[in-house]
Amino acid sequence: MQRVAPEPQDFDRVLSSMCTEPHPAAREAAVRFLATNPGDPGTYQEIAALEERAVEGLGDIAGLSEPEGYVASGGTEANIQAVRAARNLARDAGGVPTKTDAPTVVAPESVHFSFQKAADVLDVELRTVPVDDDYRADLGAVEAAVDDDTVLVVGVAGTTEYGRVDPIPELAAIAHDHGALLHVDAAWGGFCLPFTDHAWNFAHAAVDTMTIDPHKMGQAVVPAGGLLARDRSTLDALAVDTPYLESTSQATLTGTRSGAGVASAAAALDELWPDGYREQFETSMADAEWLADALEDRGFDVVDPELPLVAARLPDDLFSNLRDAGWRVSRTASGELRVVCMPHVTRETLQAFVADVDALRA
Ligand code: PLP
Repeated sequence: MQRVAPEPQDFDRVLSSMCTEPHPAAREAAVRFLATNPGDPGTYQEIAALEERAVEGLGDIAGLSEPEGYVASGGTEANIQAVRAARNLARDAGGVPTKTDAPTVVAPESVHFSFQKAADVLDVELRTVPVDDDYRADLGAVEAAVDDDTVLVVGVAGTTEYGRVDPIPELAAIAHDHGALLHVDAAWGGFCLPFTDHAWNFAHAAVDTMTIDPHKMGQAVVPAGGLLARDRSTLDALAVDTPYLESTSQATLTGTRSGAGVASAAAALDELWPDGYREQFETSMADAEWLADALEDRGFDVVDPELPLVAARLPDDLFSNLRDAGWRVSRTASGELRVVCMPHVTRETLQAFVADVDALRA
């Protein structure tokens, strides 16, 4: 029987995804390196070299001149690994007595759900604390939740639901006062924030680790996440020996992994940093502001966009009608429509969407 190969969705009506169409150079690099495995750098040396280039590029974006890290499968893996490194470092605090045998991670309630997975698989307690009225980490609440068992404080630089940036320097100070590390989750925001005034990166604050994903705003193919660390010791805390490989140890969570994502990340960074990413950010931000104004003009409550992500409260039946009309939209936990102005989301797309909002309102 001959089967018809299914087509993937086109991106025309995808408004709530944090992935996008890869840049052509990234797509082409992914195809070329599809059959390589950066998990075995002794064998696949060319992709290993490209991974170093990608990590250097991510370091440039994140204000870290000698970055440690690797291209992960995504933000989830990078976040899990940041928690794992903090837990392991606290366990073996350089020969001095173990910091804690009941490690906790303190994070605002706006953190991505990948931290729940991290807490579960690593057997650490995740303490989430309330955010302030503008959806940012509440410093008083973080301070109150941190104690001697805290191994990691997390700040988000571009939250998944509202695109908010936590006060990273202040969170770093709280973490370090308690002997904990500070992790910044810039999985989505990392490729936008260099073009804003936010203090979010390694140069702005005493950040220890960061998630910054090429396969989101970086326009690389999936899978390409990014984990960065200031110190080699963080990566060492993740490494296991690899007896049957020519390389001696491996710090990644996955073993065999796709060279496609790695090569595409390197290619996208070569092609787009900094001017291409700046232009994209400016376009996407202008589009987000246009959409926010358009929805506000129609009487909907809109959360003012700070990065290219618009959240607005639409009636449930309108939301369902938009889904039925083919718009791939989703909602926040408290029910607002979320539109992420990724590179594939053009002004024309948003105009068509708003026209449907008008047509489908009861
Ligand atoms: N962190 C943030 C802030 C995110 O928005 C996301 C996903 O949207 C993740 C982490 C998880 O990334 P991934 O889906 O690539 O594992």
